[in-house]
Amino acid sequence: MKEQEFLQRIHQKYEDADLIEKAYFFAKEKHAGQKRDSGEPYIIHPMAVANILIDLKMDATIIITALLHDTIEDTKTTYKEIKELFGKEVEMLVKGLTKVGIVKLRGHEEEQQKATLRRMLLTMGKDVRVVIIKLADRLHNMRTLNYKSREKQIKIAKETKEIFVPLCERIGVCSIRAEMDDLCLYYLHPEEYKKLEAEIERKFEKRQIQIKRITHELEALLKKLHIQGEVNGRFKHISSIYRKQVKKEGIEKIYDIIGLRIMVQTVPECYSVLGAVHNHWKPLSGRIKDYIANPKPNGYQSLHTTCLLEDGTPFEVQIRTFDMHKICEYGLAAHWRYKGGSADALNLESKLDTIKQIVENNKNTKNPDAFIKNLQFDLSVDRIWTFTPNRKVIELKEQSTPIDFAYAIHSDLGHNCMGAKVNGKLVPLTTPLQSGDMVEIITSPQPKAPSRDWLNIVKTSQARNRIRSYFRNMMKDENIKTGKTMLEAEAKNKGLPLNSLLTEETFALLQKTYNFANIDELYASIGAGSLTSHQIIQRLLAEKRNQEKQEKKMAQTGVTPNQLQSVGGVLVCGEANIPVKLAKCCSPVPGDEIVGYSVGRGITIHRVDCKNCKNIAPERKLNVCWANANTETSFEAQLHIYAQNITGLMNKITTLISMANIPIVQIQAKTNPNQTAYIKLSVMLKQREQIRELINKLSQIEGIIEVKR
Ligand code: MN
Repeated sequence: MKEQEFLQRIHQKYEDADLIEKAYFFAKEKHAGQKRDSGEPYIIHPMAVANILIDLKMDATIIITALLHDTIEDTKTTYKEIKELFGKEVEMLVKGLTKVGIVKLRGHEEEQQKATLRRMLLTMGKDVRVVIIKLADRLHNMRTLNYKSREKQIKIAKETKEIFVPLCERIGVCSIRAEMDDLCLYYLHPEEYKKLEAEIERKFEKRQIQIKRITHELEALLKKLHIQGEVNGRFKHISSIYRKQVKKEGIEKIYDIIGLRIMVQTVPECYSVLGAVHNHWKPLSGRIKDYIANPKPNGYQSLHTTCLLEDGTPFEVQIRTFDMHKICEYGLAAHWRYKGGSADALNLESKLDTIKQIVENNKNTKNPDAFIKNLQFDLSVDRIWTFTPNRKVIELKEQSTPIDFAYAIHSDLGHNCMGAKVNGKLVPLTTPLQSGDMVEIITSPQPKAPSRDWLNIVKTSQARNRIRSYFRNMMKDENIKTGKTMLEAEAKNKGLPLNSLLTEETFALLQKTYNFANIDELYASIGAGSLTSHQIIQRLLAEKRNQEKQEKKMAQTGVTPNQLQSVGGVLVCGEANIPVKLAKCCSPVPGDEIVGYSVGRGITIHRVDCKNCKNIAPERKLNVCWANANTETSFEAQLHIYAQNITGLMNKITTLISMANIPIVQIQAKTNPNQTAYIKLSVMLKQREQIRELINKLSQIEGIIEVKR
């Protein structure tokens, strides 16, 4: 197309024609002096890309972006210039289209290409316009591929076939897809392409007449039904004939080369027409497809059927509404077009979902090579649509198995899948599924592990990734086991059972250092080798020595926590070996005036002023006194702490107490549903005064509401 013609076209079609024109001349000036492989000035490429997009009736922003799409990469243009002249939106779109790290990657063209694709697909979730421009760009490059070396032709055509054609299919741009697909076939299988072309040529005249006749009869049918519609006849695309027939039956057998399309106003009309067609010609069984009731994920809707003429010549009929036709031709673009520039958010979203899903499945694959490989795997194979027993559509790849189906629904369903019923019949898990199959997964009643063999059976990367991640997690379980065994062995080496070293308290200390969420994480990091069992045992031994030192200190003072529980440092009428309990109601401490009451075979010690003692019979009263009221004897004191449930509170309390050099006998905490906590604390004290001091200090900790004896 000539420049003059192009500019005219813009002014006819766009309100923003001036800005588009500005972009055109900007790009032309920037690319000045550069040439395409054909020898023509470079600007014909951005112009052609813009033209393809104008055919798709895309908006001005997209046309401007198309004109600028190669400026950053191939000229000295900056993003700043683009932003200042054409706005932020255009700048963003150009960014999405520009190859990453061109300078660094020079010389690794393939790598660079893969990185670009990866980036493109990842940004696509945000803006599908980038992809549509990229598709138009690729289409023009394919159209002008004959100027490249044979080697490059094959490489580029292959990539187009593997990535861009499926992408067109996804987005639903039939018009670009068909042409691109034909071009791929032309470059990848030139022999077959030429043979097919010749074959169509040979039958051309006869088929042309047939098309005319069928069109005529179809129009008559519509009239009879009082339906207003349009009938178009055409030869099928060479690539579609190749894909559907030559591959299966060989080139000699191709016969199904003509198609007719009927467009009507409403969905009920579509079905009426289908009935009339089947009445008029003999339909080929098994070739009727209802994509109206079951649309393809890209939104494509239509009724397909193949019928036979009297001489046995098959022809395909597609029946759809005009609206459905627009979506087929323009794909997602139809939504921008007909909703006055603002995309029909809901529809657009649902269509993007499948693409996002693919990107999502592959997002964690950091290596661009592997990413593209996975992606090709996901895109290259034809899709099938299967159903759950609740009629939910599950989209899978051709050749997918019930295992893929199960994983497509949920990881757990996949892991536990034991068998499958397809259309009510029990089948092996390796059975390839067909479109339209209703699949019911039979699960094991007990949790079950997937089989490693499944990795060779499944066809979807989702299933593959989910199985792999299961084994990765299992590795974690394995690491826990190994780590625990190693730690036990190391403890045994030091002559101690692990549970004497690793207690709740000592683990809490390790937690502080290493940030373990739970004890399994400790084991797992030893099992995985990030920590050594020696390291941990040494730490635990040091802790144990510490504890022993403290206990020894306590023993020197003549009491141990255990003894104190029963004896309490109380003398009962001069005897020291009667079981003695300190009353909970008043918790007497040395120095308090006390009285003893016999309870069963023991004695309970109360403070003299305790309310509970007043009504006790005098004959049960015993004379008691503190064993060492004046010397340094430890006694156990109990404190009740009420606090807001603040994380780290326990830590603050224990730190405070150990800083004061006070041994803790027992600490118990309970969290209440209302976000408060109750902590029962037993400590060993040496003087009465220490209690008040401790209560004071504890009360000052943030989050503590009250401390009581
Ligand atoms: Mn380009």
